[in-house]
Amino acid sequence: MKENSIFSTIYENICRDTGKQNESAKLIAVVRLLTLTMLIHSFVCCILISFTRHVGSLVLSLLSLVMLLTIFVLSYQCSTFTSYCILNICALIWMVSNIYYLGWGLGIQHYLAVLLVFVFFSKYKREAAKVIYALFLFALRLILYFYCRYNDPVVSLTPELTSAIQITNTFFIFLSFGLISYLFSTTTQEMEGKLIEYNRKLMKQANTDTLTGLYNRRRTMEYLEQLLKTPDTQISICLCDIDFFKRVNDTYGHDIGDVVLKKISETFQKRLPPDTFISRWGGEEFLLIFPRLNGDETIIALETLRQKIKEIVFDGGSETFSVSLTYGLVEYDYHSDITTLLKEADEKLYLGKESGRDRIVF
Ligand code: GH3
Ligand code: MG
Ligand code: MG
Repeated sequence: MKENSIFSTIYENICRDTGKQNESAKLIAVVRLLTLTMLIHSFVCCILISFTRHVGSLVLSLLSLVMLLTIFVLSYQCSTFTSYCILNICALIWMVSNIYYLGWGLGIQHYLAVLLVFVFFSKYKREAAKVIYALFLFALRLILYFYCRYNDPVVSLTPELTSAIQITNTFFIFLSFGLISYLFSTTTQEMEGKLIEYNRKLMKQANTDTLTGLYNRRRTMEYLEQLLKTPDTQISICLCDIDFFKRVNDTYGHDIGDVVLKKISETFQKRLPPDTFISRWGGEEFLLIFPRLNGDETIIALETLRQKIKEIVFDGGSETFSVSLTYGLVEYDYHSDITTLLKEADEKLYLGKESGRDRIVF
């Protein structure tokens, strides 16, 4: 518990905002984490170098420690961009001086690749500057390589010390790579996740009716167009309308009318075959699409639905009531277009209304 709070305090401090507007909290956290990693790295190197008893390189290591510690403190005072630039400059100085004193064989030059990745992952949009910096890092690496090829390092290390520093350098360089990649990739994944979720919500809003949660007219037309493009099975379409719904609103109020619409929508979803496409066509009219069912099969499903809806008892305040629907059903003939089919279903519905309502006309 206590350990947890220590770690969370450290984490909160590393992620602490610069307090300046429009600054990336993530970037400053990466700057600080990278500085801390280099600081620990530098400290371990300092201990290892002390075995060489070479005053110059030891002083340099101590200076690196002070320099990195200063960057860490400054990151709480300066803007993110300033801290980011200072870290890059100091990392370069630290690396070049390390190569100068200890040579090419210890692998410290791989920090150039860390800086390259860091620069390209940063949020700054100065693409030209990034490319120039990348070229500079490339040139610097070549210069250092050829310098080391023709010049011996200032300090000659024992094979044991060489191995120890090589292992240390490899470990911290991998750690820096891992940290940068992990922190920046999680940002990208978070953003991507948010966008997917936002798109999903937008799609749902664009496709559904808010009151009933059923598909809306726009989505229904889209679905029908798609369905009739490749009609490999029979398709039935039913347009249905609540009978005397105006009376429900007038007698019990608009809110009760809404309750009726919602309850009927739920009943559709509960009672119709699972692959039925159920939509609110408008007002108190619904369009039901039955892929894979012919007219006769659909009548059976609709008849059960018609009975179930009539059995629902609604609370109208002073009294209870029930409602019925009239259904106009058509079977797809494999050549009619959507307009013709809908017109036919509407005519059947009208016929049902005319002949007394609460019935299925096929
Ligand atoms: P019919 O049996 O001939 O269909 O008669 P009807 O009264 O159902 O038909 P009419 O077209 O005269 O009235 C439909 C009513 O549906 C009028 C309108 O206020 C109501 N309505 C449409 N949309 C909604 C809604 O979202 N909520 C509520 N509460 N009422 C709605
Ligand atoms: Mg009606
Ligand atoms: Mg109507």
